Amino acid sequence: MGLNDIGSCFKCGDEVAWFKTEKGKNIPIDPDPVPADDRDAKFMIDPDDDDTVVWVPRKERVGMMYSTHFDTCSDPTEVERRKREDEEWKKNRASRQ
Ligand SMILES: [Zn+2]
Repeated sequence: MGLNDIGSCFKCGDEVAWFKTEKGKNIPIDPDPVPADDRDAKFMIDPDDDDTVVWVPRKERVGMMYSTHFDTCSDPTEVERRKREDEEWKKNRASRQ
């Protein structure tokens, strides 16, 4: 686990680093950090545990962060899925207003 545990995405072939979430699930992380203002910069590496990433609320994102490969995969089916999710999210938000 962690930045040294590099594998490749079985969909697009990009390199991913395998981490655990706080809940103990495996999550593919893009090995290159991204600036905190990037829309996909959602995770930081747990300062107490190199193998774990922590989801950071938008307001608390600073410096360099990490993105999950779920948000950046270039495979067309993944791009489609994200587009659908975005639309769902916007619809839900609109219906709550
Ligand atoms: Zn991929």
